[in-house]
Amino acid sequence: MALVNEHFLKLPNNYLFADIAKKVNAFKVMHPKADVITLGIGDVTQPLCPAVIKAMHKATDEMATSQGFRGYGPEQGYDFLREAILKNDFLSRGIHLDIDEIFISDGAKSDTGNIQELIRWDNSIGVTDPIYPVYIDSNAMIGRAGTMKDGKWSNVIYMPCTAENNFVPKIPKERHVDVIYLCYPNNPTGTVISKQELRKWVNYALKNDTLIFYDAAYQAYITDPDIPHSIYEIRGARHCAIEFHSFSKTAGFTGIRCGYTIVPKELTAATLGGERVELNPLWNRRQSTKFNGTSYISQRAAEAIYTPEGKEQVQATIDYYMENAHLMLSTLRGLGYQVFGGENAPYIWMKIPSGSSQSWQFFEELLYGANVVCTPGVGFGPSGEGYVRFTAFNSHESTQEALDRIEKWTIQR
Ligand code: PLP
Repeated sequence: MALVNEHFLKLPNNYLFADIAKKVNAFKVMHPKADVITLGIGDVTQPLCPAVIKAMHKATDEMATSQGFRGYGPEQGYDFLREAILKNDFLSRGIHLDIDEIFISDGAKSDTGNIQELIRWDNSIGVTDPIYPVYIDSNAMIGRAGTMKDGKWSNVIYMPCTAENNFVPKIPKERHVDVIYLCYPNNPTGTVISKQELRKWVNYALKNDTLIFYDAAYQAYITDPDIPHSIYEIRGARHCAIEFHSFSKTAGFTGIRCGYTIVPKELTAATLGGERVELNPLWNRRQSTKFNGTSYISQRAAEAIYTPEGKEQVQATIDYYMENAHLMLSTLRGLGYQVFGGENAPYIWMKIPSGSSQSWQFFEELLYGANVVCTPGVGFGPSGEGYVRFTAFNSHESTQEALDRIEKWTIQR
């Protein structure tokens, strides 16, 4: 008899965005003429830049010849892309990496979800709350998160990030945390961490033998020069942190699929017997066994964003989205809403005005009243209750139209 992995049964029935889609579809069925604008799901809308398209065409043409055809590539990624990453994302910031510390993947969702395979099932995990749901759900699937009660997992240490603490979580004192997930710039709050604050986490990790999983998927949106783009800008981080990157929001690769993960060679974790084991060879082993590489065409596309024209074009799209973010911040503030993020990240985190404290309730009111879709904050964790998230990824026109509708709806309420 095949026994099911019952940990899956403890998961909430649906992924957050599937729940949202269901509610939006129900609305559309009832109101077929309504023109719904989504500022909800974090997917990009602008086309790939010309440098990327050119590189993909060239790679496709190569694949059409017997000399240029490529079959399985290296599981860790092609050196041409690893070298471009090393030089442009790290050396340019004074960070020295070895090429075999960079693992190319099909995106940060897979890597942030799979990385927990490297650690024993009984490690304690700490997360900032609210949080990108993949971190906890992937731990829940193998039983590490415990059981869900009143919206919280029994074995997860939640570190609330709210307006009251300026979205800077307190370092947990009550209980030792073996593994901590940090994500900056943050999804969903759009807030960032200063070098000084990040240093505190690195020092905590070094002192307590804690492993940090650092998700830097939105680092390309940072404009403030004092905000770190990588945890390795902090001394000592090579001994305690794995870092995840994505080309999805940097260069519109949500459909192309490419990202990468850094596992430094100094990084170790303990066996029960107290022996130290290097994590870089373990991740290499894991990837070589379960992953057959990102497509050659996607990797050539990613390489193109590091060319001078690629950099310029990618930045132009980021600037486009950030114009939306700034417009959203100023409009929503002008309407009296309390909003956060949106300065170094494509997300706006808005406190729901008193009256409707439930974020799902506000989501429905906004959908039915203004035909605008946001994401209910509670979907990202208990501390997200009382907030909603807006994304800056729509077109200027749709963003402006959504804001006009929100304005009208707010005044009428
Ligand atoms: N990490 C965070 C914080 C995200 O918000 C997302 C996507 O929304 C991802 C990772 C996944 O990125 P990718 O498209 O590279 O899988």
